[in-house]
Amino acid sequence: MHEMSLAEGILDITKNYAEQNGAKKVTKIALLIGDMAGVETDSLEFCLGVVKKGTVAENAEVVIKHVPLVGRCTMCGKERPIEKYNFICPDCGGVLDTVSGREMRVDYLEME
Ligand SMILES: [Zn+2]
Repeated sequence: MHEMSLAEGILDITKNYAEQNGAKKVTKIALLIGDMAGVETDSLEFCLGVVKKGTVAENAEVVIKHVPLVGRCTMCGKERPIEKYNFICPDCGGVLDTVSGREMRVDYLEME
């Protein structure tokens, strides 16, 4: 399933980073997840809990920060939050280009 491969990818990044920095353990994994990234955060947290067992990140706290969906109008250039998946600019009828809200990445890691 999607969230499981995501969790494995996140753990790989975390393990590599910990290795490069000679960390003994990872205490926090902070993630940025866009509201439109298509990620079930509950499920992702669960999967991370499974894959980090027995690794340097075993006791790491997982913090998920949601990134709201924001678009920029291709006609008038205004940035605005996108609500209810409405990608039409209410001012001019132009199409909104997604600026943020689709990301799915590691924000920062804390380790000792
Ligand atoms: Zn517009």
